[in-house]
Amino acid sequence: MRARRLRSMLRIGQPWMPVPVLILICAQLWAVPQVKPIGPGLYAYISDNDSSANSTFLVGNKGILVVDTGFDSAEGTKLLRAIRGVSSLPIEFIVNTHYHRDHQGGNTVVGPAAVVISTDWTRQRTLQVIQSSPAQEASLYETAEVTFADKLTVHLDPYTAEVYFPGKAHTSGDALVYFPSQRAIAMGDLFLNTSSPAMDAGSAENWIHALDEALARPLDAVVPGHFDLATKKELQRFRDYLNDLFAQVEALFEKGATLEEIRRGIHMEKYNDFRQYPQYHATFADNAETIYQQLQQH
Ligand SMILES: [Zn+2]
Repeated sequence: MRARRLRSMLRIGQPWMPVPVLILICAQLWAVPQVKPIGPGLYAYISDNDSSANSTFLVGNKGILVVDTGFDSAEGTKLLRAIRGVSSLPIEFIVNTHYHRDHQGGNTVVGPAAVVISTDWTRQRTLQVIQSSPAQEASLYETAEVTFADKLTVHLDPYTAEVYFPGKAHTSGDALVYFPSQRAIAMGDLFLNTSSPAMDAGSAENWIHALDEALARPLDAVVPGHFDLATKKELQRFRDYLNDLFAQVEALFEKGATLEEIRRGIHMEKYNDFRQYPQYHATFADNAETIYQQLQQH
């Protein structure tokens, strides 16, 4: 129906369609990833595919560092094309924020010669995933050559990237990347813009602490794992969502509520504009359930 409407709009001899409207329609039909400069040498790559993660790349004097590479070779190719639109320098480093495929499936395409960096935990978890995946899928993964427990600094002359593990959050081994000169941060899936997140085996309680710690830094740009580029304002709202939900689940849990009572008993109307994804176990009630399970393990 959309195509037919477009065809009728494009019919020659219909001068009533203003050019800006046509451009808008075309932009919607053929969505492309966006590259946004967010500081000296630093760019956010906002994916046009919700199932494939955003990336961040830093262009130094001699080489490039990339944070996350997308779901597969096709998404990695799109990312590499976008990077090449900015610089032809070699991709020297790739940081994978965590083991989920939509963040590292493009590694082999984006940086076959790059040094891949992750937390120790993410490398171990990735090896498990490779062992349990069919050969074709397993070949997408290029595990980290450099791993760290707490913190690692990449000196990409004249800039630096501070890669750190904020404790368990979305998974048990997420890495965040802070760019001090650019006052920017790549959050991986610790932050989805205006969305309830998927919660893997991590810690919602420490996740909130990690967000508070990030919010305490000088920050002008915040790159979420998925969806639009953000500022502190959206990061703060996401933190408030998690904090409100955690407080409600904890109060119900302490009163002895059952899982079903907790799933039905939460009040998250303030966040009605948030996306929810039942297919990824990522609704308000699903998040409440994960928090409940984590409280039970205490
Ligand atoms: Zn994830």
